Amino acid sequence: MPLARDVVRGLAVEHGGCIRPVQLRRVDLETGQAEQVLVPCGHTLAAVCPTCAERAKTLRAAQCREGWHLDAEPTITPDAPSDTQRWWIELRAEAQQHRDQADAAGQDIGDLDELAAELDEEITSAGIRGKVLPARPARRHRSTRRRQDAPDLPRRTVEPRTIGKTFTAPDGKTFRPSMFITLTCDSYGKVAADGTPADPDAYDYQRAARDALHFAALFDRLVQNLRRFLGYDVQYFATVEPQRRLAPHVHVAMRGTLSRTALRQVLAATYHQVWWPPAHEAKHDDEHLPAWHEPSGNYLDPATGEVLPTWDDALDAIGPDDEPLHVARFGPKFDAQGVLACSKDSARCIGYLTKYLTKHVADCHQAQTDAQAAHAERLADALRYEPCSPTCANWLRYGVQPRNARQGMRPGRCTGKAHRREYLGYAGRRVLVSRKWSGKTLADHRADRKAWLLETLGITEPDPARYTWAPVPPGDPDHMPPAQRLLHVVADRQKWHAALTSARARASGELGPDLSATGRAA
Ligand SMILES: [Zn+2]
Ligand SMILES: [Zn+2]
Repeated sequence: MPLARDVVRGLAVEHGGCIRPVQLRRVDLETGQAEQVLVPCGHTLAAVCPTCAERAKTLRAAQCREGWHLDAEPTITPDAPSDTQRWWIELRAEAQQHRDQADAAGQDIGDLDELAAELDEEITSAGIRGKVLPARPARRHRSTRRRQDAPDLPRRTVEPRTIGKTFTAPDGKTFRPSMFITLTCDSYGKVAADGTPADPDAYDYQRAARDALHFAALFDRLVQNLRRFLGYDVQYFATVEPQRRLAPHVHVAMRGTLSRTALRQVLAATYHQVWWPPAHEAKHDDEHLPAWHEPSGNYLDPATGEVLPTWDDALDAIGPDDEPLHVARFGPKFDAQGVLACSKDSARCIGYLTKYLTKHVADCHQAQTDAQAAHAERLADALRYEPCSPTCANWLRYGVQPRNARQGMRPGRCTGKAHRREYLGYAGRRVLVSRKWSGKTLADHRADRKAWLLETLGITEPDPARYTWAPVPPGDPDHMPPAQRLLHVVADRQKWHAALTSARARASGELGPDLSATGRAA
C-alpha cells in the first residue's frame, strides 16, 4: 500500500506546490482579521524542493529569453527609495557624523565603525544597490592589478550601446543575430568518454584545481576583452556547470555576434594571472604547524619562533622577475553558433543554459563507477590544500599568514566553499548576468509573472500596506507541523488550478502562445 504522506508529497509536487512551505500570519489592519498563509520556500535545488527549483529555473529561462534578442537599449531607471530605505540611510548619516566627531576628538572609534558596518549591511538587505561611501583604498603599496599584462588584442573605444549589429538580407528583411558560446578549460591530460583520466598519475590535478578556483575571474577578463575588441558594451547571460571530467565550463548567451576567427583570437589573448605568494611546496605539514602568538596577533614559525610574513609582506616580496602563482586560460576547444530571435535554436539553447540549474555542481555528474569516484576523490585532494583566497587558512602551510589571520586557523580546514566537495573548486555564482541584459532584475521578472497571473484570474491585488506579516514559530497555537502544511498546499493548489482553468476557458483564444504555459506562473 502506498504511504499516505508520500502520496501527499507526490500530489503537492504534481500540482506545482512547494513541499517545504513557510507559514506566515497575515493580519488585515482594517478588519483585524488574522489569516494563515503558506509561502513557497523558494529553494533553487530540486533535491530540496522540486517545485520551487523548477519555478526558479523557469524564471531564469524567461530572463535569458528577454535579454537575448533585445532590439532596443534597455532603460534602467532605479526605483525611488522607499521610506524604510530612506530611514536606514538617515541612520547611517548620523552614525557617520558621530564617528567622525569622535575620531576628531581622539576617542576610540572601533564600536562606531562596527555600527556603521552593520548599518551598511542593513542598507544592502533593504534592497539598495552599492555603498554610501567609496571602498576604502587598500593599504597595499604595490598594485597587483598593474601586473596583469595587457592582452595582445586590437583595442577599440567601448561605445555605450549594448545592442549588436543589424544585418539586411537581399530581400530587405533585417535580422539581428546573437551568439550561443560554450567555453571549456584547458586539457589536464587525456580523458576517456566517462570523464576519467587515461593516466591518473599524469593528469594535472593541481592545474585543474587552480583553474576551477579562478574560473570566475577568468570569465570577467574575457568579458572585458570582448568589450574592448568589439567596441560596445557586450551583454551576456551565462551559466557555469561541470563537464564530465569535473572541470567547469560555461555556456554564454551573448547579445550581438562575432566570427569564430575573432572569438578564437580573443580567447587566445585572454588569461588571468594570479599574483599570490608561492604555494608550490608545503613548508609546514600538519604535524608542524605555525603556532598562534596571542600577544602580537601573529603566527610564528614552529621551528624558529620567528613571526611568519604577513599577507602584505608576502605580496611585497614578489619581485619583478617572479612568475605569477597561476595563469588561468580557457582551452582551445570552444563551440559558437549564431542564434536568431525566437527561433527553435534559441529555445533549445535556453534549455541548455538552464538545464542543470536545479542541481548542485557536484550532482550534475554523479560518480557511477569506481574510476569516476576515484577521479572526484583526487580532485578533492588537490583542492584541500590549495589556497582559495587571500584569507584561506591553507597559506599557513606555505609559510605565509593569511590576510586577517586569527587564532585557530588550520590548513586543510578552510571553510571556504571552494574546498567543499559539492563545489568542485568553483564557488562562484552559477548564473552570471550582466547588468544591462534585460534591464530587469530577477524580482522584476517575478513580478511580471505574478501580474500576468493576477490578470488572468481577474484578481486585483490588495493594497500591501493593508496587511502585516509575521512568521509563525513552533509553539505558537496556530503553528502547523509540516505534514499539515502540505495538506493545505495540496488543497490550495487544487482550488487554484480550477480557478485558472475556468479563467483560461473564459479567455480562450485571447492569450498568446507564451502565456498558455503550465500555469506555474506565480
Ligand atoms: Zn519550495
Ligand atoms: Zn580556503
